[in-house]
Amino acid sequence: MKISSKKLVVCIMLFSLFTNTKFIAKASNECDLENKEKLNTYEVTMKQDILSLMMAYPEYIEDVECNDNGMVYLIMKSGKKILYDDKKEKIFEGKLANSDLQDMMEQRYPLEASTKLMDKNFDPGRLRVYALLNEVYGDSKKKIESNLKKTNIGYRYYQFNGNNKAAKSLEAAMREINTLSQSRKDIYNCLFPANGTYNYRYISGTNRLSPHSFGIAIDLKRDNRDYWKWASKKDGEERLASYPKEVVEIFEKYNFIWGGKWSHFDILHFEYRPEIILKARYFDNEYKDEDEWYEGAPIKEKNVKGYIKKINKAFKNKKKVTSTTNFNEEVDNYINQIFKNRNKAILDRDLELIKTFYDTKTKYGTWAYEHEKKKVDYIHNWEQKQGVKFTDISSNVMIKKIIGNEDNYTVSLLCCTEYKYIYENQIEVNRARIGTTHFMNIMMTEDKWVITKEWYKDPFADSLNLEKLNVDSIKEFITSQGQRDLSGIGDRRKNAVDYAHRYCGAASEEKYGFKYNKKYRNYNPKGGDCANFASQILFEGGKFSKNRAWNYNKKGATGPWLNAGKFKNYMLYNGRASLIAYGDYEKVYKASYKLLPGDFIAYEKKGKVTHVSVVTGADSKGYSLVTCHNTDRDNVPWDLGWNDKKIKFWLVRVHY
Ligand SMILES: [Zn+2]
Repeated sequence: MKISSKKLVVCIMLFSLFTNTKFIAKASNECDLENKEKLNTYEVTMKQDILSLMMAYPEYIEDVECNDNGMVYLIMKSGKKILYDDKKEKIFEGKLANSDLQDMMEQRYPLEASTKLMDKNFDPGRLRVYALLNEVYGDSKKKIESNLKKTNIGYRYYQFNGNNKAAKSLEAAMREINTLSQSRKDIYNCLFPANGTYNYRYISGTNRLSPHSFGIAIDLKRDNRDYWKWASKKDGEERLASYPKEVVEIFEKYNFIWGGKWSHFDILHFEYRPEIILKARYFDNEYKDEDEWYEGAPIKEKNVKGYIKKINKAFKNKKKVTSTTNFNEEVDNYINQIFKNRNKAILDRDLELIKTFYDTKTKYGTWAYEHEKKKVDYIHNWEQKQGVKFTDISSNVMIKKIIGNEDNYTVSLLCCTEYKYIYENQIEVNRARIGTTHFMNIMMTEDKWVITKEWYKDPFADSLNLEKLNVDSIKEFITSQGQRDLSGIGDRRKNAVDYAHRYCGAASEEKYGFKYNKKYRNYNPKGGDCANFASQILFEGGKFSKNRAWNYNKKGATGPWLNAGKFKNYMLYNGRASLIAYGDYEKVYKASYKLLPGDFIAYEKKGKVTHVSVVTGADSKGYSLVTCHNTDRDNVPWDLGWNDKKIKFWLVRVHY
């Protein structure tokens, strides 16, 4: 899922992502994550960063210390202290010039193979803390040079820093790559002659030392398209796509990062940065509240337990980083009232019920209110098209954190909303659940609370521009259908459906705990999790086997596993599925009754498939229901939220 840059600007200007938090986009992602991080993961991230550093530099970092002002330091073996976070607001350039440990560790290095240039200013590992490098590899030219070791990279020796296993790691990586290159000409061709390792120099145009100055980086054979200052994006991307991914994988295995994963690309450049790789390797899954902060770390490994103890000890007596995490009853009541009234506004089509929540004197307030109004209209139109009536909409609001002071709060919460509807000529009650994650700022003005900002991904955002459908004939068709007997579907389909219900996150039934499967990484911050979830459903539940093209492992996943469009194509063109129907709503809705639990629907916007949902059942009139991630849905009518005329649907039969 991609968000247009226009929308992005709107989001920043209005200080809100009310309608359009498509999680993929960098900016929405940043807004959300920044806010979220402030709320509940700052401290966890800090501990994970420090543990990664301690594992990466075991002979150099002695301990961690937290002083009374909440400043956190690494204590180096030399006695020197290195500050974790200077708490200064910095823009990208500021971070580059004056990076602290927190800045350096902030962007997660992606371990999965990539053939595309990274988004603007996504440069994981390109920020360096010189105090740390000085400490580990030498703080002067002379000292560094005394630490250099002759290192065999295959056809001759190069100088590389002998400290902290840097030279050893380079040798091991090159040994593996050289072996592979004997049967792989493309790999051989990108190795020699190497462009160099140790070279005491400043990064061009700056007063910062290059990592080559410390003898911890190697440039392999040069191609003129390798460096962002030499080559256009297009050329860089072309070179990137042709670069043998095995070379990158092996370097990463030995704790080297690759400049090909920076938006300021440097494709021939590999740099020994164990802290960046270790963090990516062990803390790639999104942290969940119920986890220990070190969940994922190799706690059985010698030393790691000791590091965890040191970190826990340092933070034991520390004041909470956030100003207050006290549960505040008044705020809690207010939040619940907001959701109650929003639901009632939809049911009663009465906007007055929510008007008071918004400060309509501000641009944001007006806009957010207008958005709610559109939503109410959309849902009513959908009722008419469907021939149903919503009889009850109720939200289970789970507040995760409240921080702030007496008249200004930021609240993070999960909301699971159940929509009950009945067909006009029936009495059976149908239930659909949609789960959303919200970050909300509320403020006391004069004598009442108002929402000043809110971030959430609206499940109806793609349908608000509803154009007139041929409502009457659609309704006639839908209401004339009868219940479908789906009990004869095979076990693989049944198990796929069970898996989908169990792990549909915020939309799930309470007994499943509103969770994703922790075994898998959550890709919502990185482009959306819908295809990842559909793939899991087919693999874990449906027992389809993984293969080279469709694959997930600890390091990452292939395109067809992760990307909605590629997933759809892979299934269709590799014999695992076939097309039932394709087109806009009016063209496909009749065919939608052929869908069986375990089949899937791909949603196409402006020619690009942006979402995929798995069919998990049918309602009391046989209308197909889907389950998916983000927004999380559980047994929701397949088109609800997707009625914009420009949207096209791929209805796909999966061959179990
Ligand atoms: Zn380099």
